[in-house]
Amino acid sequence: MIAFDTPILVTRPIFPDINGYKKQLDAIWESQWLSNNGPKHKALEAQLQRFINAPNLSLFNNGTVALQTAIQSLRLQGEVITTPFSFPATTHVLTWNGIQPVFCDIHPQTLTLDPAKIESLITAKTSAILGVHVYGIPCHVQEIEEVASRHGLRVVYDAAHAFTTKVNGLEIAQYGDISMFSFHPTKLFHTGEGGALVYNDSNLKERIDYLKNFGIKNENEVILPGINGKMSELQAAMGLEVLPLVEQEKYKRSKIREVYTRFLSQVPGITVLAVEDNASQSEQYFCIRIDAKAFGLSRNDVYEKLKTFNVFSRKYFYPLISNYPCYSNIASANPAYLPVASQAEHEVLCLPFYGALPLEYVERICKIILSFR
Ligand SMILES: *Cc1c(COP(=O)(O)O)cnc(C)c1O
Repeated sequence: MIAFDTPILVTRPIFPDINGYKKQLDAIWESQWLSNNGPKHKALEAQLQRFINAPNLSLFNNGTVALQTAIQSLRLQGEVITTPFSFPATTHVLTWNGIQPVFCDIHPQTLTLDPAKIESLITAKTSAILGVHVYGIPCHVQEIEEVASRHGLRVVYDAAHAFTTKVNGLEIAQYGDISMFSFHPTKLFHTGEGGALVYNDSNLKERIDYLKNFGIKNENEVILPGINGKMSELQAAMGLEVLPLVEQEKYKRSKIREVYTRFLSQVPGITVLAVEDNASQSEQYFCIRIDAKAFGLSRNDVYEKLKTFNVFSRKYFYPLISNYPCYSNIASANPAYLPVASQAEHEVLCLPFYGALPLEYVERICKIILSFR
């Protein structure tokens, strides 16, 4: 097996045609409007709302501030039950809201919050459950809803990986009180940097939109302790150019997924992570699990060896959030309580996955991996 000439990274953002973006810029120069709910912002909000069939949608300057604002808008406090198997932002936003994260173990197949393990973590201080649709694999939304309604808890989803995912024919954001999407360049749909909240309760719209603009109601009234979460016209313009390319990108990624799956799914020691039958793919990541005993090499071995072939995979999500020094002292962060997550963090590997990756390259990456055995 020979190495690639140029580095193959885990993802590559959609870059729309520069002339289209230049036209958007011309219009911005014409309007002399750069931020604060301008024409591009309004257009993107409306287009996205249609695209993912969102009852209510608010754009943000990034997904993290969006999630932080979601928690503020629901007035959550005390403790929130969440997953340690995610990107740092998921837990950090709780801490920034003065909330104690309580880590709950994950389900062995979906690697999302294990609904069977939530109930024993609920205390008088618990105000919500914060789940993550990891790699676009939906949480067990029905079961989580049941637990939440039994205990009067709110449900918030970090849907950063789940743009366009459907569960039981419904858009993913129809589940739970609020869902956050990230439009960072590493995400399928992006606005350079950006994010959104989607929610069913239209009463939240006003509060969320005030919160993302410092709580300013009008020139004379500031009614909430808000933050600056506003998406600029430059970001919105990027989104308007990227959105029409999303379906084609998803199609190309689905073909890449097919090749990876064909080569890797039957290999002893490798498990291809997949959505359950009731859900659709967001095509955000292609992720495998490597059982070191059965495969003969550990995840870390494969990760390191791939680098020597100029292939840069990513160990999402290692280390577990519960193992960061800022959280490891929390009682629920004890790995003994998180056996499934503590095993998964050493086995998962995300492979290069973006529409511009030629299928021959995908085949070659598979053959390189298989040559390690
Ligand atoms: C990307 C990501 C975020 C953060 O979103 P930003 O838009 O980068 O702030 C949060 N959670 C998860 C799971 C993510 O992948």
